[in-house]
Amino acid sequence: MRKLKAYTIDETPCRIKLDAMENAGTMPEEIQQEIAEAARTAQINRYPDPSAKQLKQAIAEFWNIDAEKTILGNGSDELIQAIILAFGGPVLFPVPTFAMYEIISRALSQEVATIPLTKDFSLDPDRLIRKARETKARVIFLACPNNPTGNRFSDEAIRKILDKANAAVVIDEAYFDFSGTSFLPSLEAYPNMIILRTLSKIGFAGLRVGALIAAPEVLSELNKIRLPYNINVLSQAAAGIALKHKNVLEQQISLLISERERLYNALSQMPGIVPSPSETNFILFRTDTDATGIYNKLKQAGILVKNLDKPGPLKNCLRVTVGTPEENNEFVRQVQQILATDLHG
Ligand code: PMP
Repeated sequence: MRKLKAYTIDETPCRIKLDAMENAGTMPEEIQQEIAEAARTAQINRYPDPSAKQLKQAIAEFWNIDAEKTILGNGSDELIQAIILAFGGPVLFPVPTFAMYEIISRALSQEVATIPLTKDFSLDPDRLIRKARETKARVIFLACPNNPTGNRFSDEAIRKILDKANAAVVIDEAYFDFSGTSFLPSLEAYPNMIILRTLSKIGFAGLRVGALIAAPEVLSELNKIRLPYNINVLSQAAAGIALKHKNVLEQQISLLISERERLYNALSQMPGIVPSPSETNFILFRTDTDATGIYNKLKQAGILVKNLDKPGPLKNCLRVTVGTPEENNEFVRQVQQILATDLHG
């Protein structure tokens, strides 16, 4: 415990929050009213439905998945924890990736093994398979699309790992809604595969709802570990209503995707900035000057992004979440201004 470090979140108050892959769009007034009404009548004096049946059904319909093959978590973070608790380590993943795989593994005293992604952030499946054998890894995490790099690993690479690695392979599809591609259709073919999804990126980070889809043998083990009332009454009610408005959510998602392309193009045109192609709701970009300096200046201007600048593969990298069109314009304007001031004095 003494060696562990807490996951730190920059809580600086800011005008424009583009650090955490939230959806900045809000639900229309009438849907908010519907949610408020459900909250008013919710039985908060009772424990929640332990299997969150209605919400699970709403999620199953929203993503076209099988409710029977799904368990829900208090965010997918909790499901990551349940997987590591159930299977134990060594836990293997390529880096850079989502920080919680390592933090949760270490908190549960499980060994961690890593391989680096290639220079363009793609995955070398043979190297990962070799490492899995060497370390006798029990769980492999593949965030696809990956955070913080934004790219998807190739289907071929993932298939090879599913075929050859003797481990549970978690395909973390937290950003599925922005990439549109999924390994879900292969669930029958790979009983060692576990898929993770979340409602956090499409507008409901505050409700903390994640979903895990896997073969019945895996689900029955994970159900032994899951805490019985892990999705609270208000989250079950609110998320259940929100998901029924699929057309509204789909509109927000397509706006985020077109804004991502606009932001990518704007960043590509800036001197000294190279954005990474993204299939998510964020963009990783590298600067040829001091990225931490740019991060600090953005913060002074009231814009919070994620600073990833430290020695290693993400040297001089920042990650910006796609915001509303106005927020994106303001972000672009501020970065342009910072670069212009840096260049001219
Ligand atoms: N997986 C990945 C790849 C993520 O980037 C995140 C959030 N940053 C999560 C899981 C966790 O999401 P949540 O716990 O909000 O569902």
